Amino acid sequence: MTLDRAILRRLSEIVGPANLLTEAEDLAAYAYDATSRWAQRPEAVVFPTTTDQVAAIVRLAHERRFPVTPRGGGTNVSGGSVPIQGGLVLGLARMNRILELHAENLVAVVEPGVVLMNLNLALAQQGLLFPPDPQSAVGATLGGVVAENAGGPAGLKYGVTKHYVLGLEWVLPDGEVVHLGATTTKNRTGYDLTQLFVGSEGTLGVMTKAILRLIPKPPAARTLAAVFDEVAEAGAVVSKVLAAGILPAKAELLDRWVIQRIEEMMPLGLPTDADALLLFELDGAPEAVDREVERVTAICRASGARNVLVARNADEALRYWTARKAGFAAVFGKARTTLAEDVTVPRSQIPNLIRKCKELERASGITIVIIGHAGDGNLHPSILTDAEDPEHFQRAQELMHAIFNHALALGGVISGEHGVGLEKRPFLALAVSPRVLQVMKDLKRLLDPHGIMNPGKIWE
Ligand SMILES: Cc1cc2nc3c(=O)[nH]c(=O)nc-3n(C[C@H](O)[C@H](O)[C@H](O)COP(=O)(O)OP(=O)(O)OC[C@H]3O[C@@H](n4cnc5c(N)ncnc54)[C@H](O)[C@@H]3O)c2cc1C
Repeated sequence: MTLDRAILRRLSEIVGPANLLTEAEDLAAYAYDATSRWAQRPEAVVFPTTTDQVAAIVRLAHERRFPVTPRGGGTNVSGGSVPIQGGLVLGLARMNRILELHAENLVAVVEPGVVLMNLNLALAQQGLLFPPDPQSAVGATLGGVVAENAGGPAGLKYGVTKHYVLGLEWVLPDGEVVHLGATTTKNRTGYDLTQLFVGSEGTLGVMTKAILRLIPKPPAARTLAAVFDEVAEAGAVVSKVLAAGILPAKAELLDRWVIQRIEEMMPLGLPTDADALLLFELDGAPEAVDREVERVTAICRASGARNVLVARNADEALRYWTARKAGFAAVFGKARTTLAEDVTVPRSQIPNLIRKCKELERASGITIVIIGHAGDGNLHPSILTDAEDPEHFQRAQELMHAIFNHALALGGVISGEHGVGLEKRPFLALAVSPRVLQVMKDLKRLLDPHGIMNPGKIWE
């Protein structure tokens, strides 16, 4: 135990007893995130409602040397918010206000507990959009989105979270509050510490506010679904679309297994005999979008698509995107343990990566499902296994290792958007040089000399 009575009393004074959980049955809910193999119950959970409270909690942890694991919606898929060394979970969900919205400057200032979907609902009323769109928007919070540098289907055209964070209010691991960045679009003032903290996975302190860059919501968007009999063929189409001078907002891939499983869960009328479905969203000015829909349809047909289904209205489009959003639930619901990988390769190498996964699946007899953001090369090959069957699990991990090695050999990376967390710790050294790893560790030590912030993550 790292939290003694005096610490618990002080935490209760800081946040009030109603914002402190210490009962075993309450704590159990905070042992998990969206991964299926990591669990560790914290000793307490606190829900601060102000920056001053967050700072006081972190200062206490710094003085008394106990672990603090920040948590937003707990939807990450790398083990990031699992308090693997016990201690305190710092729940930011009750700091959930949109503090400022400046339509003329395309800027919003938000607290960390704002749920991403709620932000975009509020922005839509003013014709605005925060583009990063992790498929968990209904539960993910801005704190988690920033700390994971989350992406999503819209990454193809609009980039990921780091492209939309202009500044941060940040509580350093000694409890001091600093303000980084500004509301300006351009800012060249010394080292860009804002970007150091984006994607820091709760290991370098706590976000208590973010200044976000917004864009005007595109006036029109249309969806089409191309049906393929060969999944690798589908993976090659996106590059052809881009080569034709068209930049879709989204290009997403679902393989046969995922299509069939989604239909089993929620019949949406997807073509269950197809080997792959490639979903496109094209957005922009209505006339331009209509023209691009025709051109993408023609490219898909010329590239082997058996059929191209163009959504006739918003409801039909929603049906396809609901299917895509259900992808992870479809995969995770089918096996006791899922290793949902997040490798990213240069776009032109997608067919190569898909072929390798299929080859590994055939050779091992272990199911590898492919779903992902074909548009930006970020695929989620998901290995279905069972952590309680040591022999099967060992083989699944070897497959994961093989996929990482293949992605790296293709010039890719081991994580495009989910982060390292616990899941990819053993593989970090494959992906970065010893010197780079050392620089990362030095930075961590400089900012968090006692190692209190989310210990046990990113490296072992
Ligand atoms: C069905 C499903 C679909 C998903 N789709 C996508 C996708 O398309 N793209 C994508 O990128 N991800 C996706 N994810 C993963 C996940 O939703 C994102 O990583 C999301 O950003 C996590 O937000 P959260 O609020 O749940 O954070 P949590 O899971 O609570 O925390 C994530 C990490 O951030 C840290 N953290 C949380 N809040 C703060 C804070 N205020 N300050 C500092 N650190 C903090 C935590 O310590 C942890 O390390 C998906 C997950 C699910 C379950």
